[in-house]
Amino acid sequence: MKIEALGIIGAGQMGSGIAQVSAAAGIDVIIYDLNASSVERMVSSIELNLDRLVAKDKISWQDRDGTLARIVGTTDLAPLAGADFIIEAATEDVRIKQSILQDVGQIRKAECIIASNTSSVSITKLAATLKDAPNFIGMHFFNPVPAMGLVEIIRGIRTSDHAVAVTIEFAKTIGKTPILVNNSPGFVVNRVLVPMINEAIFLLQEGVASKEAIDAAMTMGANHPLGPLKLADLIGLDTCLAIMTVLHRDFGDSKYRPAKLLQEMVDAGQLGRKTSQGFYTYQ
Ligand code: NAD
Repeated sequence: MKIEALGIIGAGQMGSGIAQVSAAAGIDVIIYDLNASSVERMVSSIELNLDRLVAKDKISWQDRDGTLARIVGTTDLAPLAGADFIIEAATEDVRIKQSILQDVGQIRKAECIIASNTSSVSITKLAATLKDAPNFIGMHFFNPVPAMGLVEIIRGIRTSDHAVAVTIEFAKTIGKTPILVNNSPGFVVNRVLVPMINEAIFLLQEGVASKEAIDAAMTMGANHPLGPLKLADLIGLDTCLAIMTVLHRDFGDSKYRPAKLLQEMVDAGQLGRKTSQGFYTYQ
């Protein structure tokens, strides 16, 4: 099944990135967000990214204009009814996602596959919101989407072989490398990565080392390209907290308890790059 029209729900950092790479691969994209300001930000951030690629001679002006022309932002869900494939990339909150999926279930084409880009919510649980659970799947992209090669394809207990095959093919079409994972809290990457970030926040909270020292320890001592606290700012501290909360609850193991400092920073609205303030300050 060839995907010609893609619907995306949520025009935040992930939705924008997925829109950019899909449109660059020649797919028409309609991206819906309930906040008009997110839609406006999405368009300007994609423009900025594409302008940088032109400046670096990675794409032509024609590619830039063609990619932009294939992306339509909307604050109305109805136009997504024509999509062959829909990706939900809204805020990491199970109730928000369930409510979106109920609405999408009312408007989508019968053969449309629906994927969630959730970082941590059970795909099997989200699928139960839909009448057509076999056509529901997890498609977990990484941030920033244009730069990151991997997509975890998550199979819920009722996901069909057809949905898996279409999603793997779609991931390849937009230049990503898919790996197939069975539904499990945190899937693969976040089950390893986010507890490491949480542990770095514990180190900071306990005064074991400064944020700069913790990040330097992991970039130079473990050869990570980015320190864990800078990475937390990039992912979004709200998303990190949501993932730790799910791991803690679903495994029932205290080793996954979120650091108090992480909770406090989220309560303070210091969510990282997207709010210009996290462990570091951004302009
Ligand atoms: P974000 O905060 O940048 O964007 C979320 C967007 O969802 C916002 O624009 C918000 O207005 C919109 N939204 C909220 N409720 C909505 C609704 N009912 N209908 C339509 N839009 C709605 O968040 P993000 O970082 O882009 O994350 C989005 C999803 O992607 C989350 O599930 C997150 O766990 C997942 N994810 C994030 C990362 C990451 O590194 N940030 C990586 C992989 C997956």
